[in-house]
Amino acid sequence: MRLESPPELEAFRKKVRAFVAENAPGVKRHAGVRAPEPELMPEIRRWTAALHEAGFLGIDWPVEYGGRPDAHPLESHIVVEEITRARTWQPIGAASLASAAIIDFGTDEQRARFLPRMRSAEDIWCQLFSEPGAGSDLASLQTRARLEGEGDDAVYVVDGQKVWTTNGQHSDMGYLLARTDPAAPKHKGITAFALDMRSPGVDLRPLREITGTTDFNEVFLDGVRIPASNVIGAVNQGWTVAMSSLGRERSGVAAHGVELFAVLDDLLELAGGSTAGGGPALNDSATRQRIGELATRVHVNAAMVHLTQSRMLSGTEEPADGAIGKIFFSELNHDMAEFGVGLQGTDGILTEADPAVRAGGWWQDAYLYARAYTIAGGANEILRTQIAERGLGLPREPRP
Ligand SMILES: Cc1cc2nc3c(=O)[nH]c(=O)nc-3n(C[C@H](O)[C@H](O)[C@H](O)COP(=O)(O)OP(=O)(O)OC[C@H]3O[C@@H](n4cnc5c(N)ncnc54)[C@H](O)[C@@H]3O)c2cc1C
Repeated sequence: MRLESPPELEAFRKKVRAFVAENAPGVKRHAGVRAPEPELMPEIRRWTAALHEAGFLGIDWPVEYGGRPDAHPLESHIVVEEITRARTWQPIGAASLASAAIIDFGTDEQRARFLPRMRSAEDIWCQLFSEPGAGSDLASLQTRARLEGEGDDAVYVVDGQKVWTTNGQHSDMGYLLARTDPAAPKHKGITAFALDMRSPGVDLRPLREITGTTDFNEVFLDGVRIPASNVIGAVNQGWTVAMSSLGRERSGVAAHGVELFAVLDDLLELAGGSTAGGGPALNDSATRQRIGELATRVHVNAAMVHLTQSRMLSGTEEPADGAIGKIFFSELNHDMAEFGVGLQGTDGILTEADPAVRAGGWWQDAYLYARAYTIAGGANEILRTQIAERGLGLPREPRP
């Protein structure tokens, strides 16, 4: 296992860092994968297009759409890390998921139609998978797509409801899963579609979360007509398409771990101005023990990311690597935010609207948001079962 990056990657990192410093749309106010305020959207689109143009996004795309075949497999990871380190905006939406599906399973016509508009950020994509009754058990999704007409006139008529649609309010296109064969076993009757979010019958309702922000939406689909030419992959093979693209998504969460070093610095600063045990918090034994423990976990998290990368490069990845990394990161992220709120004593209940709140309310918001990482991209309970079954080879849990 090697912990330092090869020189060519360090040179790439420097380039990305300089580019981010010069072009990024400023520091994000809130932690996590959040939806921007509408007025920031032109800037987010400009930034996303600039990252593509500079060769820092879509690195593994086909060359004719801007990809670079000579790229090092860790370059995409470095880009996410550098954007995270600068605490600025990652490109929003589900373009990385949707592009993976279109590149791996779409037709040439679909690649030519969709990829350039993703590159230029004219189209922001959202992910329309989860439903009120289908999250962890995604394959039980109930949204229906019924074929009408034939040949060039063939359309699918879609009815159902999606939920948790991150950035749906800013999206032009949706990567949708719907059931096309209700009689087939549940994994076999699903099809993937590209949905124009402005189609008649798409009713998007923003949800207001515990953080007070609107990052997710409900999406109601009522007689929505999707041209058959927007089916991604084969009809009834949507499960294979979705699992392949989700596999790419999970590897991305680990890169957010670099932010934890900055959060640790912030935690020290916060502790420096706090009291605990009747005196300055930094003199309090219990506070110091807790900071020491969190600092240890931040370093272990970074070491685990390096281990996973090193295995990825040598083709020795373990089936549970992604799940272990995601659980470790998301629980540490939660515990750091919780400790930051606790350090503020009774002021911990203030929110960002209160002028007296420390650090503009960043800790309170981060704490309320921290649960999101323990659910998104596979709930931690589900991932623990995966570690047991796939990683350790334990007997399969009885299915209901
Ligand atoms: C921040 C965030 C962003 C998201 N963005 C999107 C998006 O853009 N598009 C999209 O389609 N979806 C999105 N999701 C949805 C996400 O994929 C689901 O929340 C996730 O799959 C869990 O599904 P659920 O919420 O229905 O919970 P459920 O599956 O109902 O689970 C509820 C609880 O029960 C536990 N549980 C369920 N089954 C088992 C089991 N077999 N064994 C043990 N425990 C179990 C879970 O771990 C969880 O704690 C997002 C979620 C979050 C948190």
